Amino acid sequence: MRFEFATATRIVFGEGTAATLPELTRTFGARAMVVTGASAERAASIISTLQAETFAVPGEPTVELVREGARRALNAGCDVVVSIGGGSAIDAGKAIAAIATNGGEPLEFLEVVGKGRAIANMPLPFIAMPTTAGTGSEVTRNAVLGSTEHGVKASLRSPLMLPRVALVDPEMTYGLPPAVTAFTGLDALTQLIEPLVSARANPMVDALCLDGIGRAARALRRAYHDGVDREARREMSLASLFGGLALANAGLGVVHGFASPLGGSWKAPHGALCAALLPYGMAANVAALQARAAGHPALERYAQVARIVTGRREASAEDGIEWIRALCAEFNVPRLRVWGITEADLPGVVEKAARASSMQANPLPLTNDELLSVVKAAL
Ligand SMILES: [Zn+2]
Repeated sequence: MRFEFATATRIVFGEGTAATLPELTRTFGARAMVVTGASAERAASIISTLQAETFAVPGEPTVELVREGARRALNAGCDVVVSIGGGSAIDAGKAIAAIATNGGEPLEFLEVVGKGRAIANMPLPFIAMPTTAGTGSEVTRNAVLGSTEHGVKASLRSPLMLPRVALVDPEMTYGLPPAVTAFTGLDALTQLIEPLVSARANPMVDALCLDGIGRAARALRRAYHDGVDREARREMSLASLFGGLALANAGLGVVHGFASPLGGSWKAPHGALCAALLPYGMAANVAALQARAAGHPALERYAQVARIVTGRREASAEDGIEWIRALCAEFNVPRLRVWGITEADLPGVVEKAARASSMQANPLPLTNDELLSVVKAAL
């Protein structure tokens, strides 16, 4: 056996740790750029104690927005970039910190649609403080950016882009509305299941995923119904963190392979897309494995997932998929058509999904017909 597991992020976790952000930021320099979501309200008291340039990210980040953010950070002479927000704010801050020191056009560095130019210079120090529990972006080495021109999302990726510090304070998530809790939480669950069955999984990834799936399965419903359930929020913040570490080391799979072109062309929250696709992506993988690769270790992984989420020792992979389908129904996860996606769009989506970087880590290659069946079922 041979494997690698890398992270260079210092992780600070716990209720109340948000209060340490100003002091932590100053250890990297006097002048900070603070990147927030659409509303900087939750971050206001923290920002007021920093000598900060603020930059709001109204939606999921684009190449254009990152270009503007990097220009602002340079003009203001910022020493450090701090993101306080969900995955969009964290990915935007991560990309701004990298482009500020590497210059050029963000698109040149993008995978798949860009030139994939390497990030050569050390980015500005970057601190991530998540206010949702889902993306795990506080510990990943990539930033997902939309390109309006190409109608897809693609990653800016480099080991140098790992945040220097992930400051994870579950209290920051107490105010999230139920729908956001559901979508981001189901993204976390997807990001624990896909690395576990990935072709690149390893024993450290397994440990994080199996533990994280249990936490999410026990806590997500509670966090959805009672936003200030301290224990449930803590469990979801941990599940999200574990998912981020797992995906950064083992990649994702078919669900994220689809989330990339869908999120690039239609205005839908990433977590909502993942949630809509998750049961069908799992079902297609299980069916394809049973048909073409009986005895593949991923089949036992799907059964393990089922035993954890249902709490039943005799649960089958199908029972696990059914449990997730029921959870999505309870949370009113919208079907893909709600975002304006139509049946006529699907062949083009399949073509782009087949090329997405996440698809490469799927436990086995799926045929175009199998991919079409996944997205059709989620429509
Ligand atoms: Zn995701």
